[in-house]
Amino acid sequence: MTVTGAIWRDQLTAKERSVLGRADDGVAGARPDVLVIGGGILGVSTAAACAEAGLGSVLLIETGRLGAGATGGATGLLIPEPHQWSDPEPFVDLERAGLERWRDLEQSVPGGVGLVEVDWLGLAPHDSGYAAHQPRAVEWLNPGQVAELVPGLARPMEGALIHRQARINPLRAVVRLAAGLPAVTTGVAATSVEISGDRVVRVATSAGDIHPGAVVFATGRPPVLDGLPLHIPSDRVKGHLLVTEPADITLPGIVAPVATQIENGQLLAGGTFDLGDESPAVQPEVIEGIVQGLAAVLPPLRGIGVAYQWCCFRPRHPDRRPVIDMVPGLANAWLTSGHFRTGILNAPVTAAVLSRWIAAGEPPVEAGTWSATRFAGH
Ligand SMILES: Cc1cc2nc3c(=O)[nH]c(=O)nc-3n(C[C@H](O)[C@H](O)[C@H](O)COP(=O)(O)OP(=O)(O)OC[C@H]3O[C@@H](n4cnc5c(N)ncnc54)[C@H](O)[C@@H]3O)c2cc1C
Repeated sequence: MTVTGAIWRDQLTAKERSVLGRADDGVAGARPDVLVIGGGILGVSTAAACAEAGLGSVLLIETGRLGAGATGGATGLLIPEPHQWSDPEPFVDLERAGLERWRDLEQSVPGGVGLVEVDWLGLAPHDSGYAAHQPRAVEWLNPGQVAELVPGLARPMEGALIHRQARINPLRAVVRLAAGLPAVTTGVAATSVEISGDRVVRVATSAGDIHPGAVVFATGRPPVLDGLPLHIPSDRVKGHLLVTEPADITLPGIVAPVATQIENGQLLAGGTFDLGDESPAVQPEVIEGIVQGLAAVLPPLRGIGVAYQWCCFRPRHPDRRPVIDMVPGLANAWLTSGHFRTGILNAPVTAAVLSRWIAAGEPPVEAGTWSATRFAGH
């Protein structure tokens, strides 16, 4: 039987699952030093970084459960190096810093965050498939070497091998980070803000008013709240994913663009870009297309069963890069949004930038590139 829903929740213990619905008392009338709105990986990471930085009392609110948005449906790959072929250098640098911070968190968070170090192997019919750049850290493999790592390929392929990338169960990471937070309340939506001068003085929520010292909006796409003058263009891009039944083959970690082998020998595949599909429903034909794609590259997988299938939406700005900035015109409000297809990877470094900025009152150097005002004229 196929479960419609991401595998990630089922990999958690009952105790961990309960953290996703954590609902501490005391929202109405609260006066936190830092209020974080949004309980995806960006919000949870930011709240954790602010608490760690000693920024005083930190309260996180989430309208659903933690990880209910894009975060809970992500593939969870932490792969900066392959993005050298597709992303500009400053962005790859951000991603590299993201992976390094995940490694730090794996050491510093009690029980770790569930980081799994894996190799990434990109298949190409021939090496011109990757010829645009010759990034560092790549080992070029001939078809014989690729066949040794991935037996059963339908045809000979060259490959690009990159060691020491990583993957994570995004919900496990959310749970481990959220478990250490001082105050988290799910099931509470921010509905409007009141601004006095250049400060947010009140955030109205479904559970009462909050009077924050500083506020961080981490709502996936930019927040649309009464009283908040914020107009940053964004959309969302749906993606489908599936996890197979345990496979009889062994892959060397992530084999792009085919699949990633996860726990129990199961294969995680997909990550489609279903432009224009706004339906929240899983489309069976997209899932079927992913299954057929697996068998086309690896014929031994023909007929493999699907254990989990799901879809979710990536928040995106027009240039496909995130915003990490203050809310224009406000002195105590920050925003991070539009993390598109690398929000899991970039969450801890984004969180570090924001917490340092809130602490110092000055933007860290990394921040300039990801401004909220770069879309003027869109
Ligand atoms: C198919 C797919 C595959 C992906 N694969 C990867 C990958 O391999 N690696 C990677 O790094 N990234 C990946 N991503 C991207 C990643 O999932 C996102 O970039 C990231 O999860 C965004 O996190 P977020 O916290 O900004 O948003 P979200 O996870 O959407 O969290 C925002 C939260 O804010 C809450 N919220 C919104 N409005 C309010 C309000 N008014 N009051 C209270 N709460 C509110 C929402 O309920 C939501 O829980 C993938 C995405 C998809 C869809």
